[in-house]
Amino acid sequence: MENELNLLAAEIDKDFETATESKALENLRIKYVGKKGAISAYYEKMGKLSKEERPKIGQLLNSLKNKVESLLTEKLEKFSGNTNNEIIDFSMPGYKLPAGKYHLISQTIRRIKEIFRTLNFDIAEGPEIETEYYNFEALNFPPHHPARDMQDSFHIDKGHVLRTHTSPVQVRTMEKCKPPLKIISIGKCYRNDPLDASHLPMFQQIEGLMVDEDINFSDLKGVLKIFFSEFFQKKTNIRLNPSFFPFTEPSAEVSVTCPICQSGCPLCKKSGWIELFGAGMVDPNVFRNVKYDSEKYTGFAFGGGIERLTIIKHSINDIRHFYENDIRFLNQF
Ligand SMILES: [Zn+2]
Repeated sequence: MENELNLLAAEIDKDFETATESKALENLRIKYVGKKGAISAYYEKMGKLSKEERPKIGQLLNSLKNKVESLLTEKLEKFSGNTNNEIIDFSMPGYKLPAGKYHLISQTIRRIKEIFRTLNFDIAEGPEIETEYYNFEALNFPPHHPARDMQDSFHIDKGHVLRTHTSPVQVRTMEKCKPPLKIISIGKCYRNDPLDASHLPMFQQIEGLMVDEDINFSDLKGVLKIFFSEFFQKKTNIRLNPSFFPFTEPSAEVSVTCPICQSGCPLCKKSGWIELFGAGMVDPNVFRNVKYDSEKYTGFAFGGGIERLTIIKHSINDIRHFYENDIRFLNQF
């Protein structure tokens, strides 16, 4: 047995030399001094030894066990970098890691989706590079509408533009689904606007569409009133002023009571009202393009800027703040 133990001692040396990480050390601990480990097994065999042999082997086993234990401690200290016997208090609370959070624009988008989900609207998506057909023609833009001009839209090639609004998603969805339909779509839009405090060449839009039999203007007003009251977290009245959009007839500009003031502030230009959305009843020509029966179905659509909603909600003075990635600005929300 003495020879066996000498071989075991050599094996231990070799094993610990090649161990390079604390997980390997744990395996070695189990291998040698664990309950079913090699050294423990020899201790069990001690009973079968003669009286003369017992003390010597016992001593050898003890020294092997001590060797393994001190190698374990020594290597573990080395791997954990704790070589100067520094005492670590494992019960101390750890350092708090810096936590990220949603960008303010993402917060607005998430909130909008939440509100419309409670109203049973689905969320639809579409491509940002759009054909001129979906971006203009299907939405009843006449051929010489200024929006179709190179000056106002980013043209990718003949026939393709960066979508100037999220309305093409409505057309694509209506082509795929039969009424009744309740959707919102949110996404990036692009217009060749100069960069200033209230314009960006890229901005985000929310757009909604509801189609069914007997949908009328008061449904539109009801949905928008609920949305704005939820979004601004206060009772909000809305006002519809006649307007014009190619894809709705009649069309309206939607204004809401200023969420900031009672009697006039710079944000609402002292009028108490803030214009936020465009809206209207879907033009029968748009229904015809997607093969909906415009005699049977009616629908409303509305849309507005995500940045503008955010600006009004948080009284922000410059749209460019959203995309400058200044952490001092973003951390405030
Ligand atoms: Zn105001």
